[in-house]
Amino acid sequence: MSDNRVYSYSAVLMGSPILLKLCSHDEAMASRVFQLIKRYEDLLTVNRAESQVMDINHAAGRHPVTVSRPVFQLIQCAKAASMVRDSAFNLAIGPLVKLWRIGFHGHSVPDAADIRARLALTRPQEVILDETTCSVFLQQPGMELDLGAIAKGYIADRVRDYLRQQQVEKALINLGGNVHTLGEWAIGLKKPFADAQALIGSLTVNGQSVVTSGTYERYFEQDGKRWHHILDPRSGYPLDNELDSVTVISTDSLDGDIWTTLLFGLGVEKGCAALRQRQDIDAIFVTKNRDIILSSPQRLRFAPLDSGYQVIDCTA
Ligand code: AMP
Ligand code: MG
Repeated sequence: MSDNRVYSYSAVLMGSPILLKLCSHDEAMASRVFQLIKRYEDLLTVNRAESQVMDINHAAGRHPVTVSRPVFQLIQCAKAASMVRDSAFNLAIGPLVKLWRIGFHGHSVPDAADIRARLALTRPQEVILDETTCSVFLQQPGMELDLGAIAKGYIADRVRDYLRQQQVEKALINLGGNVHTLGEWAIGLKKPFADAQALIGSLTVNGQSVVTSGTYERYFEQDGKRWHHILDPRSGYPLDNELDSVTVISTDSLDGDIWTTLLFGLGVEKGCAALRQRQDIDAIFVTKNRDIILSSPQRLRFAPLDSGYQVIDCTA
């Protein structure tokens, strides 16, 4: 008789609820997975005084810092995504994230002059990488790397690799909105600004990553406006367009994590155009107007669950 039961294990890491689903009861496996996540968090976090990334930040304007190869490679990848023309992704966004404090205590809309001053400290071309020594140098004092937009994706991929190596055939990891899968799973897409349980649809994937970035995840309200946590590196203010959320479906969660930010910056029309060049990446855009736009209706197995939303084909 086959056992279709799912066993769920949870923890709080990286300031987020972490959920692991396995198809056999295996607490030891869950505990090893959570330890793996914690090890990577310890390397990559910028929300503590110490980590390899914080060592780089502390040495800004002074000297290069040698880091471990995986951290170096992740920074290399983040720099490449940041250097794409008009990219909304910027690995050097740290000074602005710290100024806004969105999602942390003491947030408020900063002065325009402070935003301008910090913008000058966020140039990705001033992140100098040396492959031979695995070192990273931030050219200006005050510069800060922030890998918050990709760390979860990177770590989700490492969890996938580990589970595969352990011969696990079916499992799901959810790192606070970054989902990765082994085997087939139906994943709920959250309804923006509604109860945590409310879903606008369900997406079935097999062995793929599903990453969502939403303006509803972290924000505050001031002067009758919502200020959310995805910043536009060109203006220094939260990205302001028609979108409430973007979900990216890809083989690797790192790509998904980078692309949610890139697509947020591009918006629906340019985003769909960019995805036509990428057969390996699909997206679901959710707009403030309550449209759900699928980049590739043939490939995506999406079932709507909220009649208040209208599903639109990107090619339409
Ligand atoms: P995510 O949840 O993957 O969309 O990442 C959001 C986090 O990435 C924020 O909380 C910031 O730490 C950081 N961040 C904000 N804006 C940007 C940006 N334009 N480029 C890169 N990282 C960003
Ligand atoms: Mg991201």
